[in-house]
Amino acid sequence: MPTRLKIKTGDTVQLLSGKERGKRGKVIGAFPRTGLVVVEGLNLKKRHRRSRRQDKKGEIVLIPGPVQSSAVAVVCPKCSKPARIGYQLAEGGRKLRVCNQCRAAF
Ligand SMILES: [Zn+2]
Repeated sequence: MPTRLKIKTGDTVQLLSGKERGKRGKVIGAFPRTGLVVVEGLNLKKRHRRSRRQDKKGEIVLIPGPVQSSAVAVVCPKCSKPARIGYQLAEGGRKLRVCNQCRAAF
């Protein structure tokens, strides 16, 4: 059963659990099938990147790891609070997301 993901690429989200709780970042990847999102600057993992040149050492780069979408809340662009998202049907059958804090649709 595909999970409906309320989070979209480009959203700002706030982490609700884990040691980085409270941190915010922009969503750079959303994977509805697995319920995972990748957030810029959050849950950074070290990756070793090998250099193709022999005289140069490989470097360590930090890459954001995926987090469960249930562990983050979308930050409302209107009131900038982490919001629980509801839905509202707009004209033409388009679905809008609604902030439960300020009732703004976006
Ligand atoms: Zn709001």
